[in-house]
Amino acid sequence: MRLGRIASPDGVAFVSIEGDGDTAVTREIAEHPFGTPTFTGRQWPLADVRLLAPILASKVVCIGKNYAAHAAEMGGAPPEEPVIFIKPNTSIIGPQAPILRPPSSDRVDFEGELAVVIGQPCRDVAAAKAKDVILGYTVANDVTARDQQAADVQWTRGKGYDTFCPLGPWIETSLDPSDLEIRTELDGEVKQRSRTSLMLHDVGAIVEWISRIMTLLPGDVILTGTPEGIGPMSAGQQVSVTVEGIGTLTNPVADRK
Ligand code: MG
Repeated sequence: MRLGRIASPDGVAFVSIEGDGDTAVTREIAEHPFGTPTFTGRQWPLADVRLLAPILASKVVCIGKNYAAHAAEMGGAPPEEPVIFIKPNTSIIGPQAPILRPPSSDRVDFEGELAVVIGQPCRDVAAAKAKDVILGYTVANDVTARDQQAADVQWTRGKGYDTFCPLGPWIETSLDPSDLEIRTELDGEVKQRSRTSLMLHDVGAIVEWISRIMTLLPGDVILTGTPEGIGPMSAGQQVSVTVEGIGTLTNPVADRK
């Protein structure tokens, strides 16, 4: 099932998205999408609504350097244990919403990533049980002010600006995340192309690691790291991240006033 969140003429709602292309329809879910959703009976053509970020997260937990080729392009060996950091939930935006480059940074980069969406409160989850606590998977762009990431001891500023966490276009609940193509295009030019099978720590290991540190709540999002090929974005450009089996997340880039 594809789960999303929309702005319709009647307000904001969680929906399931059914069908493809011009005939795709959004069906309104009563209350929240966790567990077995119930439907209100209202529906709208996908073409008539605006997709928002597909989930409301209390936190976005991210893995750094989870692909060896990306660790190498950043000038180091990958860490033995996962390195994690948090993006504030205020950095989340949906498809087609502009990524805003702050005037304080001279270099704002894309990082295409597979994102995990948690479906229930959990802690101390064994890797083999991770799929029991996962609602589904979506596409993320871990937007990074690279100059500030390099200048600061930690990454809160460089990773935390408003609009620096595009998510979407929806959550795919039926997906094996172990070997999917992940691709990032800037103005249609392929910049990143890799496979999730090249992650150093797979989804199960990541959920186990993070849930030993902090309780994960329904809607929390985990960004699983970016492959090689990261690079800067300029105002006026458009960035798209595609994960096989989910879809494409596209955002324009603009300068924040
Ligand atoms: Mg990243």
